[in-house]
Amino acid sequence: MSDHIRLHIPGPVEISPATYEAMATPMIGHRSKDFVALYDDVHPRLQEMMGTKQPVFLSTSSAWGVMEGSLRNLVAKKVLCCCSGAFSDKWVDVAKRCGKEAEALQYDWGVPIDPADIDAKLATGEFDTVTFIHNETSTGVMNPLEEVAAVVNKYDDVLLVTDTVSSFSVVPINVDELGVDVLLTGSQKALALPPGLALFTVSEAAFERSAGIEDRGYYFDFHEFKKNQEKSMTPSTPCISTIYGLRHQLDVIFEEGLQNRYARHNKLNNMVAEWVEANGFEFFAPEGFRSKSLTCIKNNKEIDVAALQKLMRDDHKIQLDGGYGQIKGTTFRLSNMGDETEETIGNLLDALDKSLARL
Ligand SMILES: *Cc1c(COP(=O)(O)O)cnc(C)c1O
Repeated sequence: MSDHIRLHIPGPVEISPATYEAMATPMIGHRSKDFVALYDDVHPRLQEMMGTKQPVFLSTSSAWGVMEGSLRNLVAKKVLCCCSGAFSDKWVDVAKRCGKEAEALQYDWGVPIDPADIDAKLATGEFDTVTFIHNETSTGVMNPLEEVAAVVNKYDDVLLVTDTVSSFSVVPINVDELGVDVLLTGSQKALALPPGLALFTVSEAAFERSAGIEDRGYYFDFHEFKKNQEKSMTPSTPCISTIYGLRHQLDVIFEEGLQNRYARHNKLNNMVAEWVEANGFEFFAPEGFRSKSLTCIKNNKEIDVAALQKLMRDDHKIQLDGGYGQIKGTTFRLSNMGDETEETIGNLLDALDKSLARL
């Protein structure tokens, strides 16, 4: 496709022709043996990637479906929402719209979540749930998941919901070791699949809590997922084509090897970081908290980001992100997640050099 625009935005990301081909596998019935075989094929590999013995659920929704669903399933008293960017800020709003008592633990965008602040909030005894975004895609900050999980786990009656939408399969995440109650991710970020599929896991403590909550609805009811998963099925008709794509991507991921995959993301992220420094730009995220899946670049040189985007698109057929929400134009973001290689990231940086020279 000569007019194809290559995506280097932090989601959706570029999808390989082989993935599209896998998705064109003929349709099957979602109550058929064929579907059971498909789910059984992906399930143990998803458990391994998440580091859990708990069932992994396939939700035909974007990540927000499960983010909202977690609140509906788990919040009986009050939820503490760790807010430090577009996605995490929105979670507190979603909680209120679901009729839940919610409080924002608000940070300026770009500032990492401090586990000590969560500790102080939970010590009040007001909260029974915490929402936490591991990798804040809007700011390029990777928050300290291990430390946050350790703090929340001090409180037996508080559940931790963790969004790993843009970090899953980029860095190792071990749900059972960490003690995360709900871990969720989406298809269109590092898994390099089309949008429309969310993946999540639920702890025993979270199932117990949710069993006592009445207004959890149907579509995202954790117990519906559990009942159906026991038969290797989903509550309603899932996006089977995307699950074929997932099966293909898991083949690719396990052929590469998980450790190699993490190392590749790290290496490509470092290539971008070197470019940032060599060109006199700065990082929006502080040192030690930078995402491995994307880079949010501070526009300290005050370039015309919209003009850069246009040059990249017109001359190089690359779609670039021009910053999100309140930091649009004062930042721009480069994604290195998914199927990217040294060659594709090299091409991206090359095209950036050429475009910047023309600004
Ligand atoms: C992209 C993203 C989401 C939103 O995902 P949808 O698939 O649009 O629902 C949520 N959280 C993070 C961290 C994201 O990067």
